[in-house]
Amino acid sequence: MQTENKYDYIIAGAGCAGYSLLYHLLQDPILSKKKILVVDANFNKGNDRTWCFWEDIAGPFESIVCKKWSNIEVLKGDFQRSLPTAPFEYKMIQGIDFYQYISAFAKGFDNVEWVASKILSIDATHGGARVNWDGGAANADFVFSSIHGDRIQSALWQHFKGIVVEFNTPVFDAPIFDERVARLMDFNVPQMDATAFMYLLPLTDKKALVEYTLFSPTILETAEYDLVLNAYMEAHYKGIAYSIVHTEQGAIPMTTKKMTSRTGNVISIGTMGDAVKASTGYAFQFIQQQTQQIVSQLKLNQSLNAAVHHTRHHFYDAVLLYILEHKKMAGDEIFARIFKKNDAATVFKFLSNTSTMIEDIRIMVSLPTQIFLPAAIKVLFRR
Ligand SMILES: Cc1cc2nc3c(=O)[nH]c(=O)nc-3n(C[C@H](O)[C@H](O)[C@H](O)COP(=O)(O)OP(=O)(O)OC[C@H]3O[C@@H](n4cnc5c(N)ncnc54)[C@H](O)[C@@H]3O)c2cc1C
Repeated sequence: MQTENKYDYIIAGAGCAGYSLLYHLLQDPILSKKKILVVDANFNKGNDRTWCFWEDIAGPFESIVCKKWSNIEVLKGDFQRSLPTAPFEYKMIQGIDFYQYISAFAKGFDNVEWVASKILSIDATHGGARVNWDGGAANADFVFSSIHGDRIQSALWQHFKGIVVEFNTPVFDAPIFDERVARLMDFNVPQMDATAFMYLLPLTDKKALVEYTLFSPTILETAEYDLVLNAYMEAHYKGIAYSIVHTEQGAIPMTTKKMTSRTGNVISIGTMGDAVKASTGYAFQFIQQQTQQIVSQLKLNQSLNAAVHHTRHHFYDAVLLYILEHKKMAGDEIFARIFKKNDAATVFKFLSNTSTMIEDIRIMVSLPTQIFLPAAIKVLFRR
């Protein structure tokens, strides 16, 4: 039990951001020798989520990517568009593989210690920070925290329930799903006065993650997601028996407001460190960017800045959220227009904050000027 030990770094919360930071720290020849403590209330999360993202290279977690797609599709009414994603691939990592991969790698380092306990408080101290948990406390030069509890506030949420369905293989010879195509958005589902779509990722030709996703202020009851999921399965795969082999449910804040303000050497990372892309809920790659950025700054002894959404794209996010929040245009219409008029690579770059000005303009002209311009002006003067 570490009670009053002093560490170089404490990682408070071992989820996506905490583990990512640990991984990138341990990749560095100098920082990997630092004394590191990892504290989490629950190291046995199981497969509590899957992360999807796109890359045009083999990234650091390529070996645990469980599925890749090179086509995406978007559906709305009669409109159906399948787009090749090259040079990107849309990839999936299972939460459990990620947690196990990094913890197995870190177990090889004697300078990394672990505490399984609920963190009660994190405080900045003179020249460092202190973490108090149920049963102990420790000090460090820096604390990197991704713990949140009930503190998150957001006017809009991306919330969802997904089921992994598996059809009975011996009975059917024909493929049920087109394994090569990730159905990113099927807007032909109840919109619930929000932006709602089915996200369907085939894992094999007979197994898929089917997820009912909404962008709205209020999170639904589980039974409400189930109703739509069941109706979708019935409409598309009528009378064919399947079993549900896994479920995932969650809510991601969609906001450009800062989650926390920096206090001394307590650095927020992950969702709490504003790594989530406000207009889409994607965070995995931004968390990689954020934690790699922190590692470079530590290496160079620079002051730490964990911001990843600080470019003009942050402004676009705010404008898009304004349009959605104030219902200036229906979300299904916005996304369908964007995918109708642009290739997948341009959209992916735009959503990764890496598009050029020309590409930004291409995306923006997909939306009606009379909607986009007043919203942009409103957001500009609100800031
Ligand atoms: C179901 C789901 C699916 C998602 N899918 C995608 C996706 O496909 N692509 C994508 O880019 N993003 C996705 N996201 C968004 C984002 O990538 C994840 O939410 C990501 O896990 C955020 O990382 P994090 O480290 O900030 O939080 P978390 O991963 O939630 O980690 C926080 C950690 O803090 C610990 N903790 C919390 N409170 C305490 C406490 N008081 N004491 C001790 N420990 C504590 C928790 O146990 C947890 O381990 C998804 C989110 C969810 C919920």
